[in-house]
Amino acid sequence: MKVTDHFKNANGKTLFTFEILPPLKGENMRTLFNHIDPLMEFNPPFIDVTYHREEYVYKQRENGLLEKITTRKRPGTVGICAAIQNNYKVDTVPHLICGGFNKEETENALIDLHFLGIDNVLVLRGDCVKSEQRFVPEPGGHHYATELIGQVVNMNCGRYLDEEQVYNSGTDFCIGVAGYPEKHFEAPNQKSDLRWLKKKVELGAEYIVTQMFFDNQKYFDFVNRCREEGINVPIIPGLKPMTTKSQLTLLPSLFHIEVPCELADAIEDCADNKAAAQVGIEWAIKQSRELMEFGVPCLHYYSMGKSESVRKVAEALF
Ligand code: FAD
Repeated sequence: MKVTDHFKNANGKTLFTFEILPPLKGENMRTLFNHIDPLMEFNPPFIDVTYHREEYVYKQRENGLLEKITTRKRPGTVGICAAIQNNYKVDTVPHLICGGFNKEETENALIDLHFLGIDNVLVLRGDCVKSEQRFVPEPGGHHYATELIGQVVNMNCGRYLDEEQVYNSGTDFCIGVAGYPEKHFEAPNQKSDLRWLKKKVELGAEYIVTQMFFDNQKYFDFVNRCREEGINVPIIPGLKPMTTKSQLTLLPSLFHIEVPCELADAIEDCADNKAAAQVGIEWAIKQSRELMEFGVPCLHYYSMGKSESVRKVAEALF
């Protein structure tokens, strides 16, 4: 079922959903199910599965020269979505990125998803390769999420690459996109970022999931600005319970977000990670309660490979 239909069927009740990462190469599906199992009693109608693009590593050869090797640490998004749907009978939302894909590979991935009965995709540009400063599209690939949305919408209308014919039976994906309450780090200003977000919706995105934030006011302001610009689709808040002291600096540097002083001070004062995780859980519960009162259709948690804290937050709320 489509994400937007889940929102409609909820009749105003706030839903619980979460995002998982594919396991590291060498781990198996049981590892992942062990992570998902504790969250299933809160009845997530769908689970997001991230996509991780390739990375480059350099290996020294015997002759002393460096060899550039392409590697992917967390492959398997499509298979994982199918396995989750099969095992738990819940919908999945695979993340689909521009980076590392040309249009034909994207088309093939979408055909696979369609045949597997997956009805949703979160369409993203993806970040740049770790060793590079700027996002570089694959030759014959897309530069921005807007272009990738165009391809998904074409396929939904039965238009495939290099085909004259328009087919009756296209795909039928519900398209979600990313939004940034604190602005995407590359955007020159919020207005420009919102202009492109609006474009994504005009092109066919039916809902927005936000980058994580720790200050609800930033989300409320973002929603207001979106509505003023005429962006009227559901805006799903993305939340992350902080779990370690090191995340206090790691999360802002990775995701270009701010941590409010009150939370930062409380985490800094913690003697160890156990205490920090407790502070993170309490903060996320407080944030979630306020967002529920605001009437959000869904609270979406970034598990980042760890379910314990998300479970404790969900226990308090759902
Ligand atoms: P875009 O919407 O393409 O925007 C990128 C930048 O370009 C922005 O600054 C925007 O203002 C500007 N812009 C947009 N369109 C245009 C245009 N047509 N012309 C000129 N400028 C434009 N990354 C992954 O690799 N895998 C994942 O699974 C993943 N999941 C995510 C889930 C969520 C909910 C979020 C919020 C992010 C996720 N990311 C993921 C990270 C995301 O890929 C990065 O934040 C990336 O840098 C931007 O992606 P986007 O889709 O927002 O890009």
